[in-house]
Amino acid sequence: MKRKKFLLEETQMPTAWYNMVADMPHRPQPYLDPKAHTPITEQTLSVMIAEELARQELSTERFIEIPEEVQAMYRIWRPVPLVRATGLERALDTPAHIYFKNEGVSPVGSHKPNSAVPQAYYNFKQGVKRLTTETGAGQWGSALAFAGRHFGLDVDVYMVRCSYDQKPYRRLMMNTWGAQCYASPTMRTASGRAARAENPAAMGSLGLAISEAVEAALASPETTRYCLGSVMNHVLLHQTITGEEAILQMEMADEMPDVVIGCVGGGSNFGGIAFPFLRKKFCEGAQLRVVAVEPESCPKLTRGTFGYDIGDVSGYTPLIPMYSLGHDFQPSAIHAGGLRYHGAGAIISQLLHDGLIEATAVPQTETMQAGVLFARTEGIIPAPESTHAIAVAIREALRAKAEGCARTILFNLSGHGTIDLYAYEQHLAGHLADYVPTDEELAVTAGQVLR
Ligand SMILES: *Cc1c(COP(=O)(O)O)cnc(C)c1O
Repeated sequence: MKRKKFLLEETQMPTAWYNMVADMPHRPQPYLDPKAHTPITEQTLSVMIAEELARQELSTERFIEIPEEVQAMYRIWRPVPLVRATGLERALDTPAHIYFKNEGVSPVGSHKPNSAVPQAYYNFKQGVKRLTTETGAGQWGSALAFAGRHFGLDVDVYMVRCSYDQKPYRRLMMNTWGAQCYASPTMRTASGRAARAENPAAMGSLGLAISEAVEAALASPETTRYCLGSVMNHVLLHQTITGEEAILQMEMADEMPDVVIGCVGGGSNFGGIAFPFLRKKFCEGAQLRVVAVEPESCPKLTRGTFGYDIGDVSGYTPLIPMYSLGHDFQPSAIHAGGLRYHGAGAIISQLLHDGLIEATAVPQTETMQAGVLFARTEGIIPAPESTHAIAVAIREALRAKAEGCARTILFNLSGHGTIDLYAYEQHLAGHLADYVPTDEELAVTAGQVLR
């Protein structure tokens, strides 16, 4: 009998996060002030985010201890299972061994609380009373609502209007955990009012919601800080709990992955599973490939420009060195809402630039087919974002079959898709199409990336 699940005891949960920056051959260029173009300091960052998070953002320490209070809350759902996808292997008739980390078992249904919990904790420790953030499809907003409640913080979430109207369930999760959720653009901020003045029916965008959330935080510096769900180094740092657990669990399985796969929005679940394995590669000589997967419709890693870009539309965030499509790039309305961001985090971008990781773009219909096959063989209905990682795991498994060789594949199942069934309805009805932007379309905003 093949063993199905590899479970760690609570007492085996890793107690430190891993900081990839410590072991990179070339560290990312510094963040820059968007106006002065001078490197950002911890002091300037801590006007926007909690002091400890600003410190972590610029840290080069290899390991950072996970505070007791954060570990205690992680234990609500962690350690999460490493599962061998035996049903999927059988369906593909592949000699490859396929494993996945199931981050969908968190109360929120995704990996996002791995960072929401420490972000809420450090803000609470500092005496902050209110957190502001943005959310697209609602995964990050619900994670911060869940975490903020635990530490007694008020949470204001600016949710992109089109999702707010079309996808009420994560908004209702936020409300259930006691957070306020506003449809962005709102009349509460100058950025929102300007967008509404221009177009009263504006449906919003993630970049605009970020501007609103940052502006709202900066308006009340005594009580309020902003939190971000991806892209920044400290967020990826917190997510490495996934990869640290996976290393212990792969050892239980007596295997090491030949390839590690994750989908990339801003890069947090990908970095979370990949970075600890990259440490094994860089420091211990492990032979493995790491593949970042993005939608063909939002191809920042495979077709973006490597340079400096801002994280929002109004320029409240620092200039970040990254692969970007330009901050005003508007991807087509794919269902993987979490992957519709214009850029990828600095560490991931630098690793890709240096040829140390790979990137692949996949079409939407292939990802949804992969999601349905996964649901029918493994039982779990994956989030549309996570189906991107599954699609590439399937490609790798079929390649192993064609080459007639064994291969061990590990991917991050970043979340379940039970609240995204609309995507499956559209797919099953044959309504989904693939969209590849032309070079001309990408050229419209590509110039916003400073080289
Ligand atoms: C937010 C989200 C993503 C994309 O964000 P990353 O920071 O790149 O991980 C992927 N999968 C799920 C389920 C998400 O909620």
